[in-house]
Amino acid sequence: MGEQEIPGSIQALPLKQGVEHNEWSNWKWQMRNRISSVSEIKDSLNLNSKQLAEMMLVEDRFRTAITPYYLSLANLEDPNDPILKQALPDIRELEMADFGEADPLSEEDDMPVDGLTHRYDDRSLLVVTNACAMLCRHCTRKRIWNSVDAAVSSDNIDKMIAYIARTPIIRDVIVSGGDPFTLPTQRLAEILSKLRAIPHVEIIRIGTRTPVTVPMRIDNELCETLDRYGPIWVNTQFNHPNEITDDSAAAVDRLIRHGVCVNNQSVLLKGINDDPETIKVLCRKLVRIKVRPYYLFQCDQVEGVEHFRARVSKGVEIMESLRGHTTGFSIPTFVVDGPEGTGKIPIMPNYLISQSEKMSVLRNYEGIIVGYREAGERITPQENRTSSGVASILAGKRSCLVPTETKRMIRRNRNEACPRM
Ligand SMILES: *Cc1c(COP(=O)(O)O)cnc(C)c1O
Ligand code: SF4
Repeated sequence: MGEQEIPGSIQALPLKQGVEHNEWSNWKWQMRNRISSVSEIKDSLNLNSKQLAEMMLVEDRFRTAITPYYLSLANLEDPNDPILKQALPDIRELEMADFGEADPLSEEDDMPVDGLTHRYDDRSLLVVTNACAMLCRHCTRKRIWNSVDAAVSSDNIDKMIAYIARTPIIRDVIVSGGDPFTLPTQRLAEILSKLRAIPHVEIIRIGTRTPVTVPMRIDNELCETLDRYGPIWVNTQFNHPNEITDDSAAAVDRLIRHGVCVNNQSVLLKGINDDPETIKVLCRKLVRIKVRPYYLFQCDQVEGVEHFRARVSKGVEIMESLRGHTTGFSIPTFVVDGPEGTGKIPIMPNYLISQSEKMSVLRNYEGIIVGYREAGERITPQENRTSSGVASILAGKRSCLVPTETKRMIRRNRNEACPRM
């Protein structure tokens, strides 16, 4: 993180000037001082009047909300800045709106109680607030933004908790939103204590983007509350290396020191992080701050989000560049959240090339194709069968096919006094 500028020191934004450090580092100040229209910052942005007018038109349908902290990470002059692209409205949200659906994951079809999605047997997801610190332009739940930061009533939350209490197959509860960490800590504590009182609830997860958008929210009071009702797993959403700052690293560190496990769910976003190098750097930086990359999501088919959708093939290409090439636990699983409520479906390159009863033929990250013997099978060469290609491995005539120029083979040959072949 050494090369990163310390966010508090960026002076580009007029708003930042003259802000006392103790105000800047107070999450409530950050929430109160959110930018709620591009018009507030138009003089700092590199926009012409047409672009500004278009953005303001988009705001009529999909609101803007950006914390001063998050905006301070952006290069305001650069319209392709990955922070700005996640924060500022884009006319394509309206132009391409007819592509998407309001609820592509059919979350509302799997709701036994208003606000609670019970899709997978052993876990369920609760929307406890509709408010977020920042409104991400790529949000899957854009449909609930309209209801001006509407809180979910205690009565409604009690009904969700009652459903969990009478449904013993649920052992994992995902507290989501909106962003649960926008609730007052006391309110969150009430929800967590009621969930923790249910004997069959083994783990509580919280989905929050505050470590990225307003890391000062992760204060001691909050951390102590989480510690009290653990085990708690926090799933956050870093999408770009520029979001990993001293402040966000410190927020994660506070969580970890209070016994909270922190995982990351990135969204694959066209023009922001849809290339192997950006994701690789992001994942490396995440493990440096002790965050485990968990999922890389294909961007959903949501109304107003179409222009962010990369192709599924891009995700496959990224996964190909990670597995074997970098630390195994810094590799997320690429998933598509399927339509019709089919849920998360993992997608990756094919490593299983062929099979017979006796063996599977696999390929590794270097492109080596190798036979893998099944239990109890003896592989003997079958003379009557072909001795070329993958079939020759299945026929027991060779163990593997090796590309001529893998780095490892070059290294091996170099190390040998008398090179083979
Ligand atoms: C993502 C999701 C979960 C959790 O899935 P995991 O694969 O366990 O992380 C649970 N319920 C719903 C409705 C979800 O969308
Ligand atoms: S924090 Fe999550 S729920 Fe809130 S706007 Fe961003 S993506 Fe949507």
